[in-house]
Amino acid sequence: MNLKLKYLRQTVRIVLFLFLAVPFAKAQFYGDPPDDTHPWAIHDNNRPQPPRVEPGKVPGGAPSDAVILFDGSVESFKKNWIHENAKRKKDWKVQDGALISVGGAGTIKSKVEFADCQLHVEWAAPAKVASSSQGRGNSGVFLMGKTEVQVLDNYNNPTYPDGFAGSIYGVMPPMANPLNGPGKWQSYDIIFRRPIIKDGKVLDDGSMTVLINGVVVQDSTPLEGGGGHRARSRPKAFPLNGPLKLQDHGNPVRFRNIWYRELRARPIEGGTDGKLSPEATKKKRAEIAAKIRQDAATKNGKEKLLRLMESLYYQNDAGAYAEAEGLGEQFVNEVAEKPEGRKGDFMQVNNAVKYLVRHKILPADHPGIDAMKTIIEENGWNK
Ligand code: MG
Repeated sequence: MNLKLKYLRQTVRIVLFLFLAVPFAKAQFYGDPPDDTHPWAIHDNNRPQPPRVEPGKVPGGAPSDAVILFDGSVESFKKNWIHENAKRKKDWKVQDGALISVGGAGTIKSKVEFADCQLHVEWAAPAKVASSSQGRGNSGVFLMGKTEVQVLDNYNNPTYPDGFAGSIYGVMPPMANPLNGPGKWQSYDIIFRRPIIKDGKVLDDGSMTVLINGVVVQDSTPLEGGGGHRARSRPKAFPLNGPLKLQDHGNPVRFRNIWYRELRARPIEGGTDGKLSPEATKKKRAEIAAKIRQDAATKNGKEKLLRLMESLYYQNDAGAYAEAEGLGEQFVNEVAEKPEGRKGDFMQVNNAVKYLVRHKILPADHPGIDAMKTIIEENGWNK
């Protein structure tokens, strides 16, 4: 292919893309409308845009909305962590950008308390191998101070599998062992959802997804009470928030680059996106409709009419319906009198009407529909 032709084809492709992209970006009256358990339509442009987050500059780096719990400095350790045992004789220490567990210093916990999160932690077991099984490079990352993701040097070191590095301790072994050797840094990326139990009823078991060095080892694993030592844990209520804890198991395990991001609320705890209860859906739909009507109030003519019609598929409110009907009648009369140059506008409103009829928001025998049909036929806009 010669260059000129290649250039031409590329231009055609770009123009085509723009042509296709514009209607999709603005189209309402397009995908299926909200239903009893979904407040949003399919491909709904009223749905909020995802907030911008600047990603970390290097793999594992903290994104812009992360809360940094340890950045390698003494200051960030002092600012964000406390020792749990007031009577201890030693403290954890910061050395060469790493936070080191010191035998006898006990558990440390974050000052901030949180629950559902994406957590990033990097750790390294001692380079000098000592002991075996649970005695080699043991520490732990405790979500909400309760559920341990085991930290252990399991490179050529078998142990009971539900106590392996990357296990939810006492609940579930990791599905693989992608650990680096002793002394090398390992990364944990954890997605944690706390259990939700109300009035003794388990609404959500809670779950954990864990990646070790980028390899999935837990995949939405149910927490089944959160695990523990020796005893089989049973589903139990968790508090709303808790600190992150790091374990002192007597081995000088190092930690660095610790940060978390909170996750959006699930529908059962008040989240307003996704599949909701019928009551929550109704409430959210009313809220969206009110917002659209507020916007409609700032517009005139066809734009106002379309916005009001759009609000009806979230909430078929009598006042908004009557207002849209009045504006619709006015619009149809205007175009009937002076149709020149109005084809685009008219067909847009006609498309919206057809959408509302198709989804039973507007009755199919509404008198306005026949009037519109006549105008389309008389002007040959259907050809
Ligand atoms: Mg441990």
